[in-house]
Amino acid sequence: MSSPKYIIVGAGLAGCLLAWRLEQAGQPVTLIGSTELPNASEVAGGVINPVTGRWMIKTWNFDVLIPHAAETYRELEHAFGVKLYHPIPLIRYCQHSIDAKRMGKRMRNPRYANVLGEAIPVGTGPDAFEDTHGSFHIKQAAYADLPRLLQTLRQHFTTNGTFRDETFIHEDLQKNDARWSYHNLHADHVIFSEGVGMQTNPWFNWLPLTPAKGETLVLECDTLNLPRAIYHHRKWLLPYGDHIYRLGATFDSDDSTSEPTEAGARELLESAQSFIAPEHTLKVKQHYAGLRPTTKDFRPFIGSHPTEPTLHIFNGLGSKGASLAPELVRQFLAYLLEGAPLDPEIDIARYSESTANPTHPDATH
Ligand SMILES: Cc1cc2nc3c(=O)[nH]c(=O)nc-3n(C[C@H](O)[C@H](O)[C@H](O)COP(=O)(O)OP(=O)(O)OC[C@H]3O[C@@H](n4cnc5c(N)ncnc54)[C@H](O)[C@@H]3O)c2cc1C
Repeated sequence: MSSPKYIIVGAGLAGCLLAWRLEQAGQPVTLIGSTELPNASEVAGGVINPVTGRWMIKTWNFDVLIPHAAETYRELEHAFGVKLYHPIPLIRYCQHSIDAKRMGKRMRNPRYANVLGEAIPVGTGPDAFEDTHGSFHIKQAAYADLPRLLQTLRQHFTTNGTFRDETFIHEDLQKNDARWSYHNLHADHVIFSEGVGMQTNPWFNWLPLTPAKGETLVLECDTLNLPRAIYHHRKWLLPYGDHIYRLGATFDSDDSTSEPTEAGARELLESAQSFIAPEHTLKVKQHYAGLRPTTKDFRPFIGSHPTEPTLHIFNGLGSKGASLAPELVRQFLAYLLEGAPLDPEIDIARYSESTANPTHPDATH
């Protein structure tokens, strides 16, 4: 019998970071997560991009999120002696004249001064790229090596005896005298960070998750020599060095499977071929796919169950987990450990309790 104060379900980016911060706060934790189940963090590029989307909008809360993300990844690097955080220039190409106009407008907006750099005149970027409408620098971009982060933290928890690599069976979680029993564990709180796995979670499956499939390719191209930067030209191209590139990502809300598809690879390659000069042959080395835990209002799902206050959720990181997770973990732990209020924008209380309709077979859970 073991008595952690917290059980965390799901060992992706969210669950691993939460477990690490709780451990640092001196809280006994057991992390349960299956490495066999699909996992978005494992296939993510980990790109941190302050200006995204067709409308070139500054990421929600960017000025708060990014300093904390950088600090957290650096702290992990220092604690475990691994390289996780890679600041890198980002160059975004305009796709048409409207893009170029929009970019000019953003550049005149003082709110964008810390994220938009100089415009790059047409024809002065790398020869390999199609460049009819010019491009511009985006500042404060980076990528976090999420697979390595997971591997590092899971290994750490395995060594400490606090990680169980297994599938969590929701029906086996029972409430006894205000505590939660799960097999031989007894805990005060359970936190669910299951990514899209929350769709089968009987306590939280009422929240409006809208999974979005994403696919990425690892490419080799011996002839492409580019200055170190992420290039955003409809898709992003991230050079890893040694002629290896990561190309991503597709976005498909209709396919709920997490397997790579021929259509996904075709979309990515056709997109790359439309902006990379034809003499560069792209060889596919790997093909990854996963489901982003995206939400209807593009804000995370954080907080406690409306009728079971010791069951919590930390989910809904969507397509921006690398930027969001560190700061949101900080806010969630301030809520959990110090009783600080949650930002109403992220709190699941924004969904009315009347929509909370747990479907657990035993309604007392
Ligand atoms: C192709 C692709 C590219 C992406 N690129 C980027 C990017 O460049 N930048 C960025 O910031 N974000 C990116 N994302 C999004 C990013 O991956 C997510 O925001 C983030 O990883 C979500 O982390 P999570 O821990 O919430 O979910 P996950 O990583 O999915 O982790 C959830 C974990 O819970 C486990 N689990 C679920 N149910 C159970 C159960 N019953 N028992 C045990 N374990 C369970 C799963 O196996 C999984 O390991 C991308 C996503 C995809 C799919």
